[in-house]
Order: sequence, then C-alpha cells, then structure tokens
Amino acid sequence: MLVLLMTGSALAGTQYDVRCTDAKCGFTTTIGIGGGRMFEEASGYCQKCAKSVSVTWKREGKPRPLPLRFWDALTGRMREIFNCPACKTPFVNMEQIEDLKHCPKCGKDSLKSKRTVMYD
Ligand SMILES: [Zn+2]
Ligand SMILES: [Zn+2]
Repeated sequence: MLVLLMTGSALAGTQYDVRCTDAKCGFTTTIGIGGGRMFEEASGYCQKCAKSVSVTWKREGKPRPLPLRFWDALTGRMREIFNCPACKTPFVNMEQIEDLKHCPKCGKDSLKSKRTVMYD
C-alpha cells in the first residue's frame, strides 16, 4: 500500500499535442502516455491508420498483454511492440514523448510536443 501511495503521481497519464515544425508539412496529432490510475496504456503511432493509437488494459485483474520485446541499439533500451487495435499493424510503445521524434508524414526530426492535460 505504501508503495502505491509513493508512486501514485507517476501513474497518471499525460496528454501531448504534437506538431511538425515544418511549415509545408503541417502534421499534428495528440498522444497520451502512461495510462491512468486504473489502467495501463501502450501508446504509439500507427502509420497505416495515420494516427496515434493505444492499447489499454486494467492494472488489476487480467495480466498485461504480452508485447514483442527487443533491444534497440539506437536508444539502448528494451522496446515493446504492440498491435494497432484497428488494423493490427505493429507499433512501438512510446514510454516517453521523446520517443516520438520523427514526423510520420515528412520523415524529418521536426516534431515539437506540448503537454496539455494530465489524466487518470
Ligand atoms: Zn492501425
Ligand atoms: Zn512533418
């Protein structure tokens, strides 16, 4: 119980407005990272659906869906792959907003993000 209290604030999710700074591109999306108090969330960008997508599951009860995991030499971290709930195309779970760096539309590392709301 004590552990739950101490990590309570870290369990809240954060929503970001993400936009491409390339004037000709104009790409924008919103993405939520971290899930809420009652649920966990894996978020990423589905290129096929051309939008940010997420898989959510309750923190209690059913075990979390098992993602495909691999070690990413670019970041030195373990990355997780989930399937888009709409089209089943795999996407990489973004654990932090910095993971969304390159614009899915124009391919440049031109994305800027702004934190909008906290939710839980
Ligand atoms: Zn999709
Ligand atoms: Zn762009």
